[in-house]
Amino acid sequence: MQYAMKKLAEEKVFKDPVHKYIHVQDQLIWDLIATKEFQRLRRIKQLGTTYLVFHGAEHSRFSHSLGVYEIVRRMVDDVFVDSPEWDKDERLVALCAGLLHDLGHGPFSHAFEHVFDLDHEYFTRAIILGDTEVNEVLKRVSDAFPQKVSDVIAKTYGNKQVVSLISSQIDADRMDYLQRDAYFTGVSYGHFDMERILRVMRPQKDQVVIKSTGMHAIEDYIMSRYQMYWQVYFHPVSRSAEVILSKTLERAKNLYKAGYVFQFPINHFHSFFEGNVDLQDYIDLDEGIILTYFQFWTQEKDPILKDLSHRFLNRKLFKFVEVDPANEWEKLVQLEKLFSEAEIDPTYYLVMDSSSDLPYDFYRPGEEGERLPIYLQLPNKELSELSRSSDIVDAISGKRRTDHKLYYPKDLLDSTNPLHQKILATIQA
Ligand code: CA
Repeated sequence: MQYAMKKLAEEKVFKDPVHKYIHVQDQLIWDLIATKEFQRLRRIKQLGTTYLVFHGAEHSRFSHSLGVYEIVRRMVDDVFVDSPEWDKDERLVALCAGLLHDLGHGPFSHAFEHVFDLDHEYFTRAIILGDTEVNEVLKRVSDAFPQKVSDVIAKTYGNKQVVSLISSQIDADRMDYLQRDAYFTGVSYGHFDMERILRVMRPQKDQVVIKSTGMHAIEDYIMSRYQMYWQVYFHPVSRSAEVILSKTLERAKNLYKAGYVFQFPINHFHSFFEGNVDLQDYIDLDEGIILTYFQFWTQEKDPILKDLSHRFLNRKLFKFVEVDPANEWEKLVQLEKLFSEAEIDPTYYLVMDSSSDLPYDFYRPGEEGERLPIYLQLPNKELSELSRSSDIVDAISGKRRTDHKLYYPKDLLDSTNPLHQKILATIQA
């Protein structure tokens, strides 16, 4: 029998705290989960440094990826299956794209990508198309199949309806992470009625629309996303941990470049510091490895590397104040000078961090990052863009919210030292 059609002799289930069960019937999906590249996602946390604020947030990208797969599976097998607008031949590619969409995430994704100038989307494609176990399994379907899966994830796939299941303003990815992150952080935001949303989704040419009777469930979802961003994802204290993590890696890289002799060999980081990372180096790295190096670094001679890695491991985080870089530019320059005078290197100890989010966007053709809006299907079958029907969504539509924070080690500043006093006064001014 053709591999693509092959079903498991008996359905397998994973117990899941968010979806109760995750159902696997296809041999292909079962084999993909068993690959070493997919298993690696167990060793990458979904929320990076957030566990230092919400201690429950230790869940992995493995559990999120299974969750996204399950939501796509329910869409295509339970909701779309009888619709003439849904092409059943797209089922497998949609399931695989949902399962594999985060495959290229590195350890502590954002900080890591930033310091080493890497892009997880590039590595997702590289793992799917390169010499890997995932690629070998996908090719059992057909030689062209890995490219199809990669195209869906890269949003270049011909059938936009399939793309929209994985990446749009209401997709399986967001629906899983909002609920999963809410569950594991323990916050009361982030919950919405996914069962209701699934029941009102209607596949159409190029997209999936929402039956207008489901508008309030969609409003609830948009608001829960808005609240999760500011209460959890952009939490200022987990950003402090991320700042310290970035600065630790940056310090190690700069020491390496300056010819510093590390007491513990830095084998895993070699190509990252050199800037010639290959796929295997990338796959070999996970959060366990990073944290092991951080343990080593607390015993290095370099005082900055030693201090920063200790801070991260033992949660001795930086404090922060709000800043407005446009109007407080002089204050920032002044602080840099004062830090240097006090011999606290501002490169590592005075850090500006900005977060920005657009909760929902209507369609503005040609603009940067244009997003497909959510359409409601009215009883007369006409489509209406969500913010035109919903006052709540209209109120937050297209409004970008940004905040800037300045991080610094308050514990290093001694209020009896006049220079430190001056620094503290300038920060608070
Ligand atoms: Ca994701």
